[in-house]
Amino acid sequence: MLTSLLMTLVVSTVVTQAAVFATTIYLHRAATHRALTLHPAVEFAFRFVIWLTTGIVPREWVAVHRKHHAFTDSEDDPHSPLVLGFWSVQLGNVFHYVKSARDPKNVAKFARDMPPDRWDRALFDRKRVGLLLGIAALCVFLGVGWGLLAALIHTVMYVFVLSPSINGLCHHAGYKNFDNSATNIRTLALITGGEGLHNNHHRYPRSPKYSLRASEFDPAWIVIQTMARLGLAKPYKTLERSEPTPAPAPHSISRPDDPSTASPKSQPPPENPPKYRPTAPNG
Ligand SMILES: [Zn+2]
Ligand SMILES: [Zn+2]
Repeated sequence: MLTSLLMTLVVSTVVTQAAVFATTIYLHRAATHRALTLHPAVEFAFRFVIWLTTGIVPREWVAVHRKHHAFTDSEDDPHSPLVLGFWSVQLGNVFHYVKSARDPKNVAKFARDMPPDRWDRALFDRKRVGLLLGIAALCVFLGVGWGLLAALIHTVMYVFVLSPSINGLCHHAGYKNFDNSATNIRTLALITGGEGLHNNHHRYPRSPKYSLRASEFDPAWIVIQTMARLGLAKPYKTLERSEPTPAPAPHSISRPDDPSTASPKSQPPPENPPKYRPTAPNG
């Protein structure tokens, strides 16, 4: 009994952290902000993890998050605690997310560079199938009762604790290195793959690295550096090497004649999303 419970806690933690790292590295840094490009096999693996563990459709997540950067803490932000109230976002983040993700106008406007491919049509757009397969895998591994408990713990942690803490707490409490409405929370960064360094991220959205000070730690950056050494990822410029002005927001990939998605005139011109080109290890 105690062994099964411990095993269930370990497995649910592994599943949650797999979802967290796939979210921050693939959904957030690579797909949304083009802060790095991934080897196609690695990108597919991340898509598969997202499909099994979250039920998220990547282009919907990307659209909601790009809209958040385009309208941060204004009336059009999909999940601003400054506009909607802290507890509304901290407890109801998933409902704000689903409302924005289901709006086809958002996807058409903010994720037009991610049209569904054949894998989306065959697998990744089928949210329920992925989740059911993920839960079934847990039940096979742990037994039905413990498997369902592991799925429940993972869901509560990912949907109601970790994700809302970035959208809620990290626009509400914490310290700032830069003058924007997001905040940094070091301890939260340790369990969210670095996402808790949200103030740094809003200042340098295209940096693949979120930590700046010696006291800040970005766990996903270690993974990204390792993948880069293995020739599996190509990071864009880190925040230390970026220009003083923020890098172009991802929505600037869109047509410059669209006023709601164009970048401010003070920012550098938009760059095309980089294509993945394999390099030799350590190259
Ligand atoms: Zn934010
Ligand atoms: Zn972002």
